[in-house]
Amino acid sequence: MGLLRLVLGDQLSHDIAALEGIDPGRDVVLMAEVMGECTYVPHHKQKLVLVLSAMRHFAEELRARGIPVDYIRLDDPDNTGTLSGELARAVARHRPAGIVATFPGEWRVLEAMRGWEEVLGLPVDIREDVRFLCPLPRFRRWAQGRRQLRMEFFYREMRREAGLLMDPDGPVGGQWNYDAENRRRLEPGTMPPPPRRFPPDPVTQGVMDLVAARFPGNFGTLDAFAWPVTAAEAEAVLADFIAHRLSRFGDYQDAMAAGEPILFHALVSTSLNLGLLSPRACCEAAEAAFRAGRAPLNAVEGFIRQILGWREYVRGLYWLKMPDYARLNALEANRPLPWSWWGGETRMNCLKQVVRQTRDLAYAHHIQRLMVTGNFALLAGLDPAQVNEWYMAVYADAFEWVELPNTHGMAIHADGGIIASKPYAASGAYINRMSDYCRLCAYDVKAATGPEACPMNALYWDFIARHERRFSANPRMAMPLQTLRKMAPEKRDALRAQAAAFLAGPEMRPEA
Ligand code: FAD
Ligand code: SF4
Repeated sequence: MGLLRLVLGDQLSHDIAALEGIDPGRDVVLMAEVMGECTYVPHHKQKLVLVLSAMRHFAEELRARGIPVDYIRLDDPDNTGTLSGELARAVARHRPAGIVATFPGEWRVLEAMRGWEEVLGLPVDIREDVRFLCPLPRFRRWAQGRRQLRMEFFYREMRREAGLLMDPDGPVGGQWNYDAENRRRLEPGTMPPPPRRFPPDPVTQGVMDLVAARFPGNFGTLDAFAWPVTAAEAEAVLADFIAHRLSRFGDYQDAMAAGEPILFHALVSTSLNLGLLSPRACCEAAEAAFRAGRAPLNAVEGFIRQILGWREYVRGLYWLKMPDYARLNALEANRPLPWSWWGGETRMNCLKQVVRQTRDLAYAHHIQRLMVTGNFALLAGLDPAQVNEWYMAVYADAFEWVELPNTHGMAIHADGGIIASKPYAASGAYINRMSDYCRLCAYDVKAATGPEACPMNALYWDFIARHERRFSANPRMAMPLQTLRKMAPEKRDALRAQAAAFLAGPEMRPEA
């Protein structure tokens, strides 16, 4: 017998390392749907359907290429429920000479993999995941000896190495970063083109029935499921984005609007994270649109920075800092998640909009995740472990290597500044500037105290006051600290009392 080649649910790429050199006459691919992976966090129903359906489609594509696949379904009566259990059963069935796997996307899974050789008594070859543009040893070399690991400097090196948006004498346009141009609010009457959608085919429909029956209590609805589940569909989503939305991606990257969940975003994270799309292909398609004069530089640079910069950077950081990173709680936050995050009543329109669309689509774009839920979690001092679990649970693209640094690092500063040099804290004014949420809100964004005052305002000043000592050491926090210190003591007390009343009130009722 040849080798048993393991392909996990987020490794659905035909060039995945575990399949390299496969001998279809001797080797077998193992793919297994297991309860342990479906339940280690209470995933959104759409995420479960997405991963299981994409796995089933990928197995069919392998078979069509003549590659034998041993595929274990979730409802197989002998299914042990764990990856290790299914591997042991497959070893007993096929008696392979060894196991070949690809480096996983989570510390938890790597830990399990490391024990397999001993448990199974077979050689286990864990190969590097070559789908990323920055190999992990390369990231470690970049990080070595640096006092600060800022994304911007990593990104510039990646641009040079990948040769993306480069002229012979430096970055195209003379600047590395055009973020300052990417902060427009959506003007009334601007109509983002509807994204490409895929109604469920019979395979997806079968998985939807399974998920509806097995996970009825999980967060989210399935009605609007339209995620790409094959590489061909993922490529169609990318092409649709490049043709219809990329040109305004930059301008409206930070905008938010009620009833417009996607705006000009790409909707490619699920496909990238499952392996249906390659990061290089996304960047090259965007650059080609720029070179052909179909998209401006601020849009294309912004898009490439997200993928070549942020995406590669957070992955490198995750593997550099785990497992300790998951336990960091630099701001000593410990408040439980409020019920409103799981769909409970709230008068805060910004939160209501983001949670509602998350329930319906398993999607929110970056600024919604960062500046609405993330900002609220930061200001209210929500427990990092619960915040992390929520983000892992509710988004279709959530995999720990990318979710955890974004949550603990970028959104709630639990890592004490490893990723962001200062907390992304904002009052209601930011949300009012970048969205129309406040116009339709029961609270008054211009008020900081009183029964109708926007909670983000008092929470913001309470947050700054709560961490005054810690932030004194951070020059980037000088401005809010100065304002706080100049504030009349009565005003400061009133703001803190307002925040305390909100935090003790019905909006913060913990999860039922
Ligand atoms: P676009 O806005 O169109 O961006 C294009 C691509 O760039 C994305 O598909 C993604 O692959 C990449 N990208 C953009 N921003 C980031 C970032 N900060 N980190 C890594 N990649 C980025 N992204 C995930 O893929 N999975 C997650 O679980 C996840 N959790 C997040 C949690 C928080 C608190 C925050 C603030 C961000 C999180 N992100 C996560 C990053 C980002 O919000 C999503 O990648 C993006 O919203 C996906 O939608 P899109 O494909 O339309 O992205
Ligand atoms: Fe959110 Fe405050 Fe605006 Fe209401 S007023 S939408 S709570 S920021």
